Amino acid sequence: MRVFLCVKERRCTVCGLEIPPGPIWRVVDTEETEMLSQVLAADLGHKFHNQAPNQEGPGHRACMIYSAMICPFLAGPGARRGRAGNTYGMEMPKGDVRGGKAGVVAYDGYEFTSTPAGPGVVYGHPLELIEYESGEDLLGELEKLLQNEDADDLAPCPPWLLDDEAAVEVAFKRAIRTPEDVARLNAARHAEQTRRKKQKQAKASRRRNR
Ligand SMILES: [Zn+2]
Repeated sequence: MRVFLCVKERRCTVCGLEIPPGPIWRVVDTEETEMLSQVLAADLGHKFHNQAPNQEGPGHRACMIYSAMICPFLAGPGARRGRAGNTYGMEMPKGDVRGGKAGVVAYDGYEFTSTPAGPGVVYGHPLELIEYESGEDLLGELEKLLQNEDADDLAPCPPWLLDDEAAVEVAFKRAIRTPEDVARLNAARHAEQTRRKKQKQAKASRRRNR
């Protein structure tokens, strides 16, 4: 639920803070790194759009570089997946090898949408790819970023990102409202306001007529 909320509110799935307008980042495996490096090298002349949904949300450049460095599966070429997973019917067995290289990639945007394979995050046009073999290769990139980072610009993170489970539930319910739900809630609120106003007016006129 937290990942879904971050995606909806354009928050980084690593640190939970909002991502400023502009590119968003994610970490990709060997196969996708190779595909993206071909796409970027080919200079298509039009936007490339991969419609495949993802379960992982986007993040800040620094956060994604950092998670690529510290995640045991993403950080090393010989690394193996510690837990089996299943993504849109594709099995990811435990012990799966990450492969020779991986990448941290920037896209011009993303959306949370439903696709034939199921709902997920669909990323936009790739803008930049930082390829790496082991997590240490990214140290220079991260240092460069941290020197430019201004911590004062950062807004505090919302309570639902921490250990407040009730806040997560409330935020989640709010986020999954459809436009019809919102219209219904607004209509109910409006009716309630009108009712109260009438009550007040009735009271006032009773007072006048006394
Ligand atoms: Zn972040």
